[in-house]
Amino acid sequence: MANYSTFRLHILKLVLGVLAFSSVAILVNVWITTTKTGQTQVFDTLNVGEGVLKQVFANRESQLINSAQVLTADFGFKQAVATRDRATIQSVLNNHGARIEADVMALLSLQGTLLSTTINMAPETSVASLISNEKLAEVLSLGGSTFWTVIQGELYQTILLTIDAPTPIAIALVGFKVDKGLLSSFDDITQLHTTMQLTKPSGAVYSVTTLPDVNRNYSIGDLDGGLSWLAMGVSDNTFVSREFALTQSSYEPIRIILSANVDVIFATFKQLQSSIFAIAIGSLALALVFGMMLAKNITRPLSQLVEITHKLANGAYEDLGAAKQGIHEVNQLTTSFRTMQTNIQQRENKIRFQAEHDITTGLFNLAHIGDLLSTKFDSNSPFQVVGISIRGFRQLNDTFGHQNVDMCLQELAACLIMLGGLGARISSHEFLWIPSEHKRNENELKAIQLQLEQTISINNLGIQVKLTFVTLCCPTDANKTESLFRRLNITFDQADKTSQDLLYFNADYEHTYTRRLDIIRHLKLALSDIDSELSMVYQPKLHIGQNKVSKVEALIRWNSKDLGFVPPDEFIEIAEQANLIYQVTQWVIKRVILDVKEMHERGQKVCAAINLSAKDIMQPELLPWILMQLSTQNLPVRALAFELTESDLVSDAKTAAQHLQEYRDAGFNLAIDDFGTGYSSLAYLQKLPVSDIKIDKSFVLNLATNEADQKIVTSIIALAKSFNMKVVAEGIEDKESLRLLEEFGCDWAQGYYICRPVPLSEFLAWIDKRVVNTKVNTR
Ligand code: C2E
Ligand code: CA
Ligand code: CA
Repeated sequence: MANYSTFRLHILKLVLGVLAFSSVAILVNVWITTTKTGQTQVFDTLNVGEGVLKQVFANRESQLINSAQVLTADFGFKQAVATRDRATIQSVLNNHGARIEADVMALLSLQGTLLSTTINMAPETSVASLISNEKLAEVLSLGGSTFWTVIQGELYQTILLTIDAPTPIAIALVGFKVDKGLLSSFDDITQLHTTMQLTKPSGAVYSVTTLPDVNRNYSIGDLDGGLSWLAMGVSDNTFVSREFALTQSSYEPIRIILSANVDVIFATFKQLQSSIFAIAIGSLALALVFGMMLAKNITRPLSQLVEITHKLANGAYEDLGAAKQGIHEVNQLTTSFRTMQTNIQQRENKIRFQAEHDITTGLFNLAHIGDLLSTKFDSNSPFQVVGISIRGFRQLNDTFGHQNVDMCLQELAACLIMLGGLGARISSHEFLWIPSEHKRNENELKAIQLQLEQTISINNLGIQVKLTFVTLCCPTDANKTESLFRRLNITFDQADKTSQDLLYFNADYEHTYTRRLDIIRHLKLALSDIDSELSMVYQPKLHIGQNKVSKVEALIRWNSKDLGFVPPDEFIEIAEQANLIYQVTQWVIKRVILDVKEMHERGQKVCAAINLSAKDIMQPELLPWILMQLSTQNLPVRALAFELTESDLVSDAKTAAQHLQEYRDAGFNLAIDDFGTGYSSLAYLQKLPVSDIKIDKSFVLNLATNEADQKIVTSIIALAKSFNMKVVAEGIEDKESLRLLEEFGCDWAQGYYICRPVPLSEFLAWIDKRVVNTKVNTR
C-alpha cells in the first residue's frame, strides 16, 4: 500500500475535522452553560429552602407559645395545679393537647420534676433527662422558653411556660414531635431533603432525615462556591447540602441540613446535553456520509484524469476514456488533457520520425535501419545489401556548396526510393539499399549505378556524382547487423584502395582489416617504450671508389610477441594512415642517435640515414627536436642523414621543398629514395634540395643480367652527375652488379652482397673484421 493519503481521504478528514471541532465546541459550551445554570438553581433552591424552613419553624414556635399561653392562662387549670388535682390536670392536658394537636403535654414542678404527662413517661423520670438545669433556670427567670429535646427516642420542639398564680407554681410543657413524616411535608414545600440534627450536651448526635441512600453528598462549603464537573453526578443520588443552625441556644444546638438532589435538578440539563451529544454524533455520521459522497464526486473524475495521465505516460493515446461530467473545473482539466494529448502525440510522432529518419533525405537513418536489419536477420530469409558511397564528397561540397549538394542528395534519395525496398543514409556520403525482390546481379547493379550517376541539375548547376557500389549477401556474408556494417565499411575501404566502383564482399578483406587494427593497437603499445619490441638494424653503404664504409641506412624491425615479425613495409604504411608515423619516426631517431653515439665511441665515425615519410617533413617542430636530440648526445649534424621517397614529395611539392631546404640549411644530407619508380621528372628533381639519389633496388637486383636495367641505371647516374648529385645503388646481391656499378661511376653501393641489415653489435663486429681484412688485402 502506498504511503500517501488520497485526495478523497483529505476531503473526508477536513469535513469531519471541522464538524467534530464545532460539535465539541457546542457541547462544551452547552455543558458549561447548563452546569452554571444548574448550579445557580441548586444554590437558589437551597437558599429559598433555608428561608422557608426558618419561617416554618418560627411559625410553629409562635403557635406553640400561643397554645401554651392559652393553657397556662386557664383558671381552672391553674386551680387544679395549685391544688395538685391530678385527675383534672391530666384531663385538661389531654383535652388541650388534643385541641392544639400537640404531641406531648406535661406539667413539671418548679424543680423540674414531672408531675403529669399525656404520653407514657414514668413520673419518676428525672427532668434532667429532658431539660438541663440551666434551661430550667432560664424558664423561671424569663417565664418561658422554647427548646429541642429527645423524648423516648423522638425529637420534639417544645415550649416551657411558668404557671403563675401569680407567682410561678409549676411549669407547663407543650411539644410537637419532629419526625420523618413532618420533614417529608417540608420537603414537599422546599423540594429538598431535610435533615435535623440535635447535638446533646453529652455530644451524642440525634438526627431525623428524609434523605434516601446517598452515593455522594457534597457540602456546599466544600464545593467552594461552584459545582465541579464531578458534582454533576455521573452516578445517581448525588446531593449538595446546606447546613444552618435553627436556634442560637448553646445547650442544645439544633441544625438543619437541606440537601438538593443534583440528579433531579440536572435531569433536564442532562437530557439537553445528551440530545445535543446525540445530534453531534448524528451530524458527524451524516457528515461522514455526505463527505464521502462529495469526495467521491470530486475524486472520481480526478482519478480518471490520473488514469489518463498514466495512459499518456505509457504512450497510449487512442482512448483517454471520458471523465465524469459535472464539475466545471474538472471538465476544463479534461479538455486541457485532451489538447495536451493531441499535442504530445503530434510531437512524439515528429520526434519518432526524426529519430528514425535522416532529416535531409527523409530516408531511414543508421540507427533505424540497424533495427530493421536486426528484424530481417531474425526472419532468417536471405537478402542482399547494397552500400552506395559518393566519391570525393568533400570536394563536391567545396565545389557546389552544402545546400546544392543536399538537394542533390535528396534527388538521389528519391531515385533510391523509386527502386523499392529499403533505403537509408548511413553517413554523410554513404547510403544503404536493400532491394525488395530478387538479388540484383552485377549488370543490374551497374545499370542502377549509371542511372544514379546521371547529371542532376540544381539551381542551373549540373552536378554529377561518382558512386562506389559494394554488395553483401546476407546471411552468408554477415549474419548480424554489427558485422554487416563492419564488413560494409571494409568493402568500401577495399574498393577505395583498389579504385573499384563495384565490389562484392570477400572474407579476405576482413582479415586485412582486422590485421590492420591489430597492428595499430600493438604498435601503439610498442611505441611507449624505448626498449620495446621495436629495434633498429643497420645496413652499411660502401663507398665504391674508396672501398670504405662510412655510411649506414637505419632500418626498423618489429618482433611483436603477439603478431610475430611484422615487416616494416606493412606496418610503416599503416602507421602513416593511422597518424602514428610521427611517433614511429621520433622513436627511430632517439634509438638511432643512441646507437650512432655508440658507433662513434667505438671509433666508427659513421653517418646513419634515417627514412622519413612525407608527413614527418611537414611537421615544423621535427627539425628543432632532432637538433636538440643530437646536441644532447654531443653528436654533430653529420652523424645523421635522411631518405625520402619521391612519391611522398609530389603531393605538395612546394611546401615539401621549403621544409627540405631547412634540413639542408641545418647541414643534413638528403636522399631521394626508390628513385625511378615514381613519375617525377629529373627537371622537377633539380628543384628539390637533395644531395643524393638512391636508385630503386628493382633496377639493381638483376643488373648483371638485365640490359634494360643497365641502360636505366647508366642514364640515372649520368643525369645525377649533371645535377651534381651523388648516386647510391641499393639491392646489390652479386659481385657482377657491384663491378658494373663501379664501371658506371656509381658513388655508393648497398646490398645483401655487401652486408644484410644487422643489429648494432653485429654491425660493429662486421666493420671491425672488414677493416682488418682490408688492411690484410692492401698489404
Ligand atoms: P627502403 O628504404 O627502400 O629500404 C631498403 C629496403 O631494401 C630494406 O627493406 C632492406 O632490407 C632492403 N634491401 C637492402 N639490400 C637488399 C638486397 O640486396 N636485396 C633485397 N632484396 N633487399 C635489400 P626493409 O628493411 O624491409 O624496409 C622496407 C621499407 O620499410 C624501407 O624501404 C622503408 O621504406 C621502410 N622503412 C624501414 N625502416 C624504416 C624507418 O625506420 N622509418 C620509415 N619511415 N620507413 C622505414
Ligand atoms: Ca631507404
Ligand atoms: Ca629504397
